[in-house]
Amino acid sequence: MVLSGPSGVGKGTVCEELMKDRDDIRYSISATTRKKRPNEKDGENYYFLSLDDFNQRIEDGDFLEFAKVHGNYYGTPKKYVKEQIKNGEIVILEIDVQGALQVKENFDNAVYIFLLPPDLMELRRRIVGRSTEDEKQINLRMENAKKELSFIDKYDYAVVNDEISHTVDKIDAIIQAEKLRVRNVKGVQHHD
Ligand code: 5GP
Repeated sequence: MVLSGPSGVGKGTVCEELMKDRDDIRYSISATTRKKRPNEKDGENYYFLSLDDFNQRIEDGDFLEFAKVHGNYYGTPKKYVKEQIKNGEIVILEIDVQGALQVKENFDNAVYIFLLPPDLMELRRRIVGRSTEDEKQINLRMENAKKELSFIDKYDYAVVNDEISHTVDKIDAIIQAEKLRVRNVKGVQHHD
């Protein structure tokens, strides 16, 4: 399951809340060259890497996808995702649109969800409100938000994150429906 949406839309909170209620979802921890925020933990929010280490991981073919986002590199470690899928688990990738497009090239059974802010002013308020970015970063993230929104037609579902509990309910409903797709229900396919 790929979850994208502009910076500040609340992807992190949505994932946390979603996982509180269910035990069939695994969160893919990304690697990044971005500096750690004070409230973040290495190996929990991200694997924080130097640019050299990140480049080495690219060379080793360790990433399922990677992209430069807001001036830093981010990538999804391949091994974890493959293992979890093999075990029949749902894996959430919280990644940007560039990454989502790369995943699309490799997986034909993924579900793509785009999380939307109620409006762009609300988005700026949320980014400013969390006080982790300076003015330049805020403006960059707002510009990128507009660019990201233009890719929404590449996604299967659009969910407006107006209230967290409603958002989680909607994503639960998507998962429930996706699990019932004929191709995802074992033993019901017709074989001649
Ligand atoms: P932040 O710096 O706010 O944690 O994340 C910035 C952006 O990077 C978000 O849009 C997030 O979805 C994206 N991102 C996080 N991890 C990955 C990843 O592994 N790959 C890609 N392509 N984007 C990522």
